[in-house]
Amino acid sequence: MTTTHEFWLAGRRATGDAEFEVHHSYDGSLVGKVSVPTDAQVEEALDAAVAVAPALAASPAHLRATALDHVARRLTERTEEIARLITAENGKPIKWARGEVGRAASVFRWAAEEARRTNGETMRLDTDPGGVGRFAVVRRFPRGVVLGIAPFNFPLNLVAHKVAPAIAVGAPIILKPAPATPLSALVLGEILAETELPAGSWSVLPVPNEKMPALVQDPRLPVISFTGSDKVGYQIMDSVPRKHVTLELGGNAAAVVLADWSSEADLDWAATRIAMFANYQGGQSCISVQRVIADATVYDALVEKVVAKVRAQVTGDPSADATDVGPLVDENAAKRVESWVDDAVAKGAKVLVGGTRDGAAYAPTVLAELPDDAILATAEVFGPVLSLHKVDSTEEAFAAVNDSKFGLQAGVFTHDLQSAFKAHQVLEVGGVVIGDAPSYRADQMPYGGVKDSGVGREGVKYAMGDFTYEKVLVLTGL
Ligand code: NAD
Repeated sequence: MTTTHEFWLAGRRATGDAEFEVHHSYDGSLVGKVSVPTDAQVEEALDAAVAVAPALAASPAHLRATALDHVARRLTERTEEIARLITAENGKPIKWARGEVGRAASVFRWAAEEARRTNGETMRLDTDPGGVGRFAVVRRFPRGVVLGIAPFNFPLNLVAHKVAPAIAVGAPIILKPAPATPLSALVLGEILAETELPAGSWSVLPVPNEKMPALVQDPRLPVISFTGSDKVGYQIMDSVPRKHVTLELGGNAAAVVLADWSSEADLDWAATRIAMFANYQGGQSCISVQRVIADATVYDALVEKVVAKVRAQVTGDPSADATDVGPLVDENAAKRVESWVDDAVAKGAKVLVGGTRDGAAYAPTVLAELPDDAILATAEVFGPVLSLHKVDSTEEAFAAVNDSKFGLQAGVFTHDLQSAFKAHQVLEVGGVVIGDAPSYRADQMPYGGVKDSGVGREGVKYAMGDFTYEKVLVLTGL
């Protein structure tokens, strides 16, 4: 019999009066049942968060840093167990799931360091006659209780990116994991419960989607940190224009290969990284490579290598060490990807490899000659599908990157310093990666998008900035 996972209410275990099931996306088996909080329990969590907020904001940095270090250590110790859980609930291959646990541990380690370091700044005011004898101290204070809403694709690390900075600044957090993947967030709760953080400072509540609009509206939650689709993200922002909302949304990231990236070794590296990061989580990463934009002089050689690398990828059971590409999160997601590829093909696209579906698994797919009116030409595929585009100049390549409603990250394969700076200057994205795919992310980096890819930045220090506001203290008569 499968046991029901309790949720975390103000730091302690609790069960509600309903539950939902979490299924393995590869074999459909039942991974676990999760208890759903009642409205009264959600109220209790919010009241507890509000009650603890002043004391938590004033709590010593060493206590919060010690808690964060503890979480980092325990995640590392429990890597294999948690990675297997992520693979079961999400379907991502075990090697990537292990990497995710390692990254989440690093997020907590960074947050511990930042909690120790954060100290505000001082400012001279005697730069004008009216400021003579005055001096300012600028410190940051929590805006209030954070509502963290997480997606399914990195069920631990994107949760870590909300919980760790909140603890670091001393803000209580109500965490809402994705319905498909709540289990790793609940294990994180187990580890948080081992710390000395005061009751009320964190809750993990698997609130059903239909109850989320009311939670989003609740005035006790002035900060909303959302990672997920642009559709839901902008609905949230529009519904609470006076709240501090950060949105980490989707993209259709491009990898650009310029003319100077032309040696055999160059093209081999680019093809390896493009194939890997188009498909590594079934393409379900907001910075998966969706578009390859290559100079005409390197295009044919690159295409040949990309297709060969994609063909060589091991697909199948995500719990096997050798598997490169597992299933999508569920069969509906795979059917949607299939219908978008079918749409592209009906409009003239050529399938160079892939283009088939088996249940929730969609085969890694490479398309050429994608017509502009195909859904895939503009929408975020969130599946293992790559399209190839040939351009005649660097300017044309950069214009093609910018020809998107999204702007999260871009990768530019070039050795040329001028082109690297130019890319940084002109690309309408939150980050440019030179010499690699757009999918590189280190968790201390500022991370986020422009255009429809979102508002605000994650990355521990930057999220801490978002969860706090500056308050100035002016000293007079000095
Ligand atoms: P989603 O928008 O469907 O769900 C995200 C979260 O919002 C879930 O927890 C969901 O339960 C919750 N939610 C659903 N309806 C809601 C409502 N009305 N009010 C409040 N919350 C609600 O996204 P998903 O399918 O879980 O994730 C995939 C998306 O996330 C993709 O678009 C991907 O690009 C994006 N993403 C972005 C980043 C980033 O950092 N920019 C990272 C990972 C994923």
